[in-house]
Amino acid sequence: MDIRSQFPILKREVYGKPLVYLDNTATSQTPRRVVDEIERMYFTTKANVHRGVFSISQEATDLQEQARERVRQFINARSTKEIIFTRGTTEAINLVAASYGDLMENGDEIILTVMEHHANIVPWQLLGRHKRIILRVVPIRPDGSLDMEAYRSLINERTRLVSVCHVSNVLGTVNPVKEIIAEAHSRSIPVMIDGAQAVSHMKVDVQDLDADFYAFSSHKMYGPTGVGVLYGRERLLNIMPPYQGGGEMIDHVTFERTTWAELPFKFEAGTPDFVGIAAYQKGIDFIEETTIDRIAAVEHDLLEYTSAKMVEIPGMHIYGSAPGKAAIISFNVEGVHHYDLGMLLDKQGVAVRTGHHCAQPLMHALGIEGCVRASFAVYNTRDEADRFLTALNRALPLLQ
Ligand code: PLP
Repeated sequence: MDIRSQFPILKREVYGKPLVYLDNTATSQTPRRVVDEIERMYFTTKANVHRGVFSISQEATDLQEQARERVRQFINARSTKEIIFTRGTTEAINLVAASYGDLMENGDEIILTVMEHHANIVPWQLLGRHKRIILRVVPIRPDGSLDMEAYRSLINERTRLVSVCHVSNVLGTVNPVKEIIAEAHSRSIPVMIDGAQAVSHMKVDVQDLDADFYAFSSHKMYGPTGVGVLYGRERLLNIMPPYQGGGEMIDHVTFERTTWAELPFKFEAGTPDFVGIAAYQKGIDFIEETTIDRIAAVEHDLLEYTSAKMVEIPGMHIYGSAPGKAAIISFNVEGVHHYDLGMLLDKQGVAVRTGHHCAQPLMHALGIEGCVRASFAVYNTRDEADRFLTALNRALPLLQ
């Protein structure tokens, strides 16, 4: 089936111009089958999960647990006990920071990188409210790749965790996470990977990577909003205290003492977004039917095609040129404010992101306040890339 026709939003117009949606890093669009499943669930199968003995509650529970198995297969985890549903990447990282962080002591160190999204910075800082945790930050090289020598030199006997993004949401850099993990593991240090920008663009196998934690969001992978995943190594999840308390996560409750449910439910307090989780399977179906290889090939072609034309524009500065980078082009043009450019592109139907992209420390390291970001997904086309370039060439003379 044709890819674009599965995404009704791609037919809409903005200011009378066909929408060219290039903010896929922030969220990807949703194929019809995902929304159909949400509707079907609400109209036929809305009953709380893991509670009722009645049929539709069991159907809803089965769908949620099928989705868990689907996610397990998708990232090749060993067991569904290692798949915890969250609200998104942000909540998954907060879970690890609060729960695994609970096991840390004053003076312990965590290694991050300068290219992290705020979601992989602030939760670790919050941990510092209760104890003295030191954050060590790996710098980048001029092309936006990670300075691996600096990384190695930051590891020491106080390092308790390394937490890095798989793919930078600004630079597009694909970090050598397998190497990062091997290095940390040689010193018995666990590694958390923020996979928000990776899972829908490349094959991720958590066993092959040997990751201890891996976080991602459904809405960035053609699925519904409000659903995310934390993969965690069973051995670590078992020693971690619960993150939130409430229904679903208990075994037995008295006012004196409560015991926890088995994994993964120990970390899933309250009613989950079981409708979203069921529909998330359809997003994964879309990725698997399209195939990651095809997605990667289309995105790579658009990245090469568009970047090659952009560098010809006088005053153009693109941030991030690491080999094998993802299809994310963050840029500024001399003398032009990123916000003004974003507005003029919008007037021509082109949706790009402007600002600091939730990566203020990276902006600081790059010496900028913000930039424009165009990012591609599998439904984008060369024709859309051309419309973006035309809009850019029309807007720039008005602003320079
Ligand atoms: N990490 C990275 C690298 C991201 O790009 C994003 C979102 O843009 C997040 C984390 C946060 O994801 P969410 O808002 O879905 O929790």
